[in-house]
Amino acid sequence: MLKYLIYLTAGYLIFKVVKNGVYLALESFQKPSILDGTTELIKCDQCGGFFKETTLINHKENNFCSEICKQDYINELQ
Ligand SMILES: [Zn+2]
Repeated sequence: MLKYLIYLTAGYLIFKVVKNGVYLALESFQKPSILDGTTELIKCDQCGGFFKETTLINHKENNFCSEICKQDYINELQ
């Protein structure tokens, strides 16, 4: 009986640790600006990824992280 109790407790602890890990990973994924307080991150209108303002590529009203995304966007419009 005691053996099952130990298994149960260990299982619960592992579950808690894993759950916290997943939660923290999601949290940092959803709020990338927290990772870098000095540079504001901009969202790419094509791939949806976040990138630093220094690598920004503007095209009309849109922001892109790279020339590839800019070209993809233009190609999709045609
Ligand atoms: Zn992009």
